[in-house]
Amino acid sequence: MVDPTEAADDSSLQGNPFGTPSPLPFSLPPFDRIQPEHYGPAFDAGMAQHRAEVEAIAANIEPPTFANTLLALERSGELLTRTGTAFFGTSSALATPEIQAIQEEYAPKLAAHSDAIGLDSRLYARIRAVHDDADQLAALDAEARYLVERYLTEFTVAGAGLDDEAKARLRQLNEALASLTTRFEKQLLADANDLAVAVDDVSELDGLTAGEVSAAAEAAREHGHEGSYLISLVLPTNHPHLASLTNRELRRRLHDAQRARGSRGNENDTRGLVLEIVRLRAERARLLGYPTHAHAALADSTAESPERVLERLAPMARAAAANARTEQAALESEAGHPIEAPDWAFYSNRVRAATYRVDTAAMRPYFEAERVLRDGIFFAAERLYGLTFHERPDLPGYHPDVRVFEVREDGTPIGLYLLDLYTRDTKKGGAWMSSLVHQSTLLDEPHAVVTNNLNVPKPAPGEPTLLTFDEVTTFFHEFGHALHGLLARVTYPHFSGTQVFRDFVEYPSQVNEMWMLWPEVLANYAVHHETGEPMPQDLVDRLVASRSWGEGFATSEYLAAALLDQAWHALDLEQAAAVTDVDAFEQRALEDVGLANPLVPPRYSTPYFAHVFAYAYDAAYYAYIWSEVLDADTVAWFTENGGLTRANGDRYRRYVIGLGGAGDPLASYREFRGQDADPRHLLERRGLL
Ligand SMILES: [Zn+2]
Repeated sequence: MVDPTEAADDSSLQGNPFGTPSPLPFSLPPFDRIQPEHYGPAFDAGMAQHRAEVEAIAANIEPPTFANTLLALERSGELLTRTGTAFFGTSSALATPEIQAIQEEYAPKLAAHSDAIGLDSRLYARIRAVHDDADQLAALDAEARYLVERYLTEFTVAGAGLDDEAKARLRQLNEALASLTTRFEKQLLADANDLAVAVDDVSELDGLTAGEVSAAAEAAREHGHEGSYLISLVLPTNHPHLASLTNRELRRRLHDAQRARGSRGNENDTRGLVLEIVRLRAERARLLGYPTHAHAALADSTAESPERVLERLAPMARAAAANARTEQAALESEAGHPIEAPDWAFYSNRVRAATYRVDTAAMRPYFEAERVLRDGIFFAAERLYGLTFHERPDLPGYHPDVRVFEVREDGTPIGLYLLDLYTRDTKKGGAWMSSLVHQSTLLDEPHAVVTNNLNVPKPAPGEPTLLTFDEVTTFFHEFGHALHGLLARVTYPHFSGTQVFRDFVEYPSQVNEMWMLWPEVLANYAVHHETGEPMPQDLVDRLVASRSWGEGFATSEYLAAALLDQAWHALDLEQAAAVTDVDAFEQRALEDVGLANPLVPPRYSTPYFAHVFAYAYDAAYYAYIWSEVLDADTVAWFTENGGLTRANGDRYRRYVIGLGGAGDPLASYREFRGQDADPRHLLERRGLL
C-alpha cells in the first residue's frame, strides 16, 4: 500500500504556497504569494496524492464500510481540492495568456484523473456493498445515508458498473463526444465570425447608441475595413440590435445572418456533427442502461425523468404560443403592416415604451454601486439572515480590484465574501459566483469563502459607478448564489454550498432578485447620487407594470429551445440513427409542441444550439424555467408571510439555502412550504394562466 502522505511532502512543492494549508484567516488562499507557476506543480502533486489515496481505498482488504470507503473518499484529494478551487475559482476573472495556458494543459489531465476514479470497478463495488448493507445504512444518519445514495448514482451514471468491454466502448464514446462538441463550438464560432454583418453607410445604423456605433467601427477596423462598420453576431437567435435598428432591410440582413449560422452547407456546417453527437449520446445511454440520453442525463436531477419535464413544460408551451399571437396583433397594429421575425423586437420595444412609458436610463442615477451594495444587497441580507459585512483590506484578493468582506452572523464570523465588480481585459464576459473555500465539518472547515464577479465598466477616476437596471438585477442574483455558498452547513464536502442539482442551483439566486424592488429595500438604497432624493415611485410602478409585456414571446422562444433539446435527446439509438434531416426534425419537434411559429423562432436553433451541443447543457436547458417554478412559489411565500423578516429568512435558510446538497431538495422544499411548489405562481408571473 502507498502511504498517502508521501506525495504531499513532495519536495517539488518546496516554497509553493499550495504545499501547506493556507495560513490566512478563513483559509483564504494566500493570493499575495500565489503565482501562476505554482499551479502546475501543485496540480501534479495533488493528482499524485489523490491517486495514491484512492488506490489505498480501492485496494483495501477490509470489508467495505461507510468509514473506510465513503468517508475515506470524502477526505481524499485535499491538496488537489486546495489547488483546484483557487485556480478555477479565479481563472475566469484572471484569464491571462499564462492562466489560459495552464487551463489548456491541465483540463484534459484533470478530466482523465476524475474519469479514472469514476470508472474504477473496485470503488464501485465497495460503494454498492455499503449501499446494499441494510444494517450499515440503518446505523447512519440521514445526511450520511444520502451521501451513499448520491455516490452510487453518480458512479452508476458515469459507467463504473460496466464490464471491461463496455467500459472500453464508453471511453471511446466519451472521447469522440468531447472532440465532436469541441468541433461544434469551433465551427460555429468560425461561421458566426464569417457571417458578421458589414455596413458601409453609418446612416443605416440609425437607432444604435454612439457606443454601439463605435464598437461596430472598431470591429470593422480590426478586420481591416477601416471606415466601415461590422456588426458581430451573438449566440441567441435575436440580436439585441434588432430592438433599436430603424432600418428594416438591415434588420432582415442581421436576422438572416443569425439564423444561417451552422447551416450553409459550407465546411462549417454543424448539422452533420449534431446527428453524430445525438447518435453517440443515444448509444452511450443504452450502454449505461437508459432508454435515451435524456433519461440518463435526468437520472441525476430533481426532475428525475424527461416525462416529468414534458408534463410540466408542454402546457406552458401552448399557453405561451397563444400569448405570442396576441402580442403579434398588438405589434402589427403599432407597425401598421404585417411584421416578420426581424421586426418583432423593434415593435415590441415601441409598444412597451408607449404603453408603460418606461425609461430604465432614468433610473441609473439612483443606482450608485456602493449604495446598492451596502444599503440594498447587504441590508436585505442583514434583515433576513442577521448577516453583517466588514471590509478587510488587510486580506489579499486575487486582483487589486477585488474587495474582501468578512461576513458575520449575529456578530460571529462565518466566512468571506469577495467582490470583483469591474470589467477588465483579462476577465471573461458575464457574471458569476464561485467558491474558494468549501465549508464542511468533516474536513474541519467551518467557514466558506465565496466570490462574485460582474462586468461593470469602470468609471473615470473620481466619478461614481452608476449601475444599469440589469446590472442591479444581476448583482442581487449573483449575491443569491453567494448566500447559498455562505450559509450552507454540511458535514460532507460533497454537499458543500452550491453543490446541488443542476436544475436546482439557479433557484436561490432567482429568489434573491425579489429584494431589489422590495419597497423597504429599494427605499433604503435607491437615492439619487447627487440630490439624495429617493427614486420616484411612478418610475418604479411603471417598470413593475411593464414586466409582463413580451412574456408571450420570451417564454415561447425559451420553451421552443428547451423542448427542442428534449426532443433531440429523447431519441433511442435506432430513432437517432434514422434521423437524416436536421431541419425537418426541428420543424416537426416544434410543431409537436405547438411552437412552430416562424415569427417566434427558438431562442437557439439546432445548428447553433451551443448550450446542448457544446456547453454541457444537453437535456438540461429546461432547468432555468424548472427552477423558476420554485422561485415564483417562494416569492409568493415571502410575500404572504410579511416579506423581509428574520423569521422568514431563518425558515428559508433552515429548509433551503442552509442545506447545501445534503438532502433531497424537493422533499425539503415540501417541508418548507407544507406542500409542493405550486406552478401557478410562475404561470401568473409569465402571464400563462
Ligand atoms: Zn445564476
